[in-house]
Amino acid sequence: MTVRETFDIALPAFVGGAKKHLIGGQWVDSQSGERIEVINPATGEAIGQIARGTVADVDSAVAAARRAFEGEWSRWTPHQRRKLLLKVHDVLLDNFGELAVIETLDMGAPLLRTRGLKEWTSQVLQFYASQTNAATIESAPNSLPGNFMTLKHRAPVGVVGGIIPWNGPLIGQWWIFGPALATGCTAVVKPAEDASLSILRTAELMLEAGVPEGVINVVTGYGREAGQALAEHGDVDRIAFTGSYQTAQSVIRASAGNIKRLQLELGGKSPDIVFADADLDKAVPGAAMGVYTNSGQVCVAGTRIFVQRAIQDEFVERMKAFTSTIRVGNGLAPDTQLGPLISQRQLDRVMHYIDLGGQEGARLSGGGKRLGGKLASGFFVEPTFFDDVSNDMTIAREEIFGPVASIIPFDDIEDALRLANDTAYGLAGGVWTQNLSTAHKASRAIKAGTVWVNCYGVLDPAIGFGGTRMSGYGWKGSREHVEGFLSPKAVYINLD
Ligand code: NAD
Repeated sequence: MTVRETFDIALPAFVGGAKKHLIGGQWVDSQSGERIEVINPATGEAIGQIARGTVADVDSAVAAARRAFEGEWSRWTPHQRRKLLLKVHDVLLDNFGELAVIETLDMGAPLLRTRGLKEWTSQVLQFYASQTNAATIESAPNSLPGNFMTLKHRAPVGVVGGIIPWNGPLIGQWWIFGPALATGCTAVVKPAEDASLSILRTAELMLEAGVPEGVINVVTGYGREAGQALAEHGDVDRIAFTGSYQTAQSVIRASAGNIKRLQLELGGKSPDIVFADADLDKAVPGAAMGVYTNSGQVCVAGTRIFVQRAIQDEFVERMKAFTSTIRVGNGLAPDTQLGPLISQRQLDRVMHYIDLGGQEGARLSGGGKRLGGKLASGFFVEPTFFDDVSNDMTIAREEIFGPVASIIPFDDIEDALRLANDTAYGLAGGVWTQNLSTAHKASRAIKAGTVWVNCYGVLDPAIGFGGTRMSGYGWKGSREHVEGFLSPKAVYINLD
């Protein structure tokens, strides 16, 4: 591992000062007047403030979203919405350099990653632009006696509440804004308190691109205040939530009042299985970055690396060599690969799990320390891996959400699959092998929403992804996601 500390980059004027909520097309302070400090996780320094939204702010945002939903927006044609999405696409891409720097300052991910999201954002927006005809009316043949015409409408569900985590707001927002704009819904988004700036700037750009007042609204603040108020709100029709399963349980309870529809994208403890016949030149960097990308703050991180016993020693040696090449540091340095964790709280959590791994008998074979020197004021942890982990140790069972991998040896495919599926989660998994039959058997057997073979973490918005078991339900991306923002309705017309 090498350390990157210096950079030379112009900081966007948007960063700094006190940000407001976007409600009904206007930028407004919290009704309480309270604010939350924004911390740059690479330095620990305050770089501005966001508004601390509460029930009153959520009420007015939901009212604005409802007015917009019932108003002129409901008469926009699919063609108009498609043009709008494509205009949003162009405006965002023109400003993507600025958005990437804002994201890096706000949540720490390096510019290498945030700038790289430009192409991905383009694909996502193009995909949702292609979906604006989803709200259709079909005339369906029926088997009724008599002379009936049957129509099946698909109408937008209404006001959608979006609750987003801090690990990738530039990505996460599109799983709400994209289908909402495509279908004619309206949205109130509550970003994570630790990373709201890139969403606020995106919202500003969306207004510039012509998104009508009230169609998208952003209320910043804490989960237990603004998030809870959104999940409970009687006039929100659907909640699209991404975050931990513990918070999801609270969202499920809060949503019961008006039986909201839910989309829950939660955490994981994903298995990544490396068979002895794998091409290790690809499998080692692939499996390592399957954990370390975004400093391990990725829901699909393949944190349990199952390695066939015959290659365990070689795999560990290669992991050591690979992690020594990773460049960690301030994400504003253009070649930094891994930035800091999001907060002091997350740093404490990750260090706690690293201590626990040692206490439970796993062998620390790489990393394990917080970075000091010029990075001491930020929340940096070395890329870390434990060897000889057993699948029942806490570090192999609980989601750490940091750059910590567990290498777990296995004997044969049955052993690997039994261990891989011995988890409460079901978000993703990986398989590294050159044997086609092993690849098919393993990818069929892994209980997860996505399985990657000889790669890890690639995502096509037209295919989408989602979880099973404690990783939640609902599907992000693809036609299936768009359908979730629509409500079917049958109309029977007696023609006699
Ligand atoms: P979190 O659950 O603590 O917070 C997520 C969001 O929920 C934040 O905006 C937070 O303010 C809000 N929130 C907190 N308490 C709330 C409450 N009582 N009611 C309503 N909203 C509330 O999660 P986090 O720590 O920010 O993010 C990490 C988690 O997110 C991990 O478990 C990770 O795996 C998961 N995640 C999943 C996906 C996916 O698509 N499956 C993607 C990214 C992250």
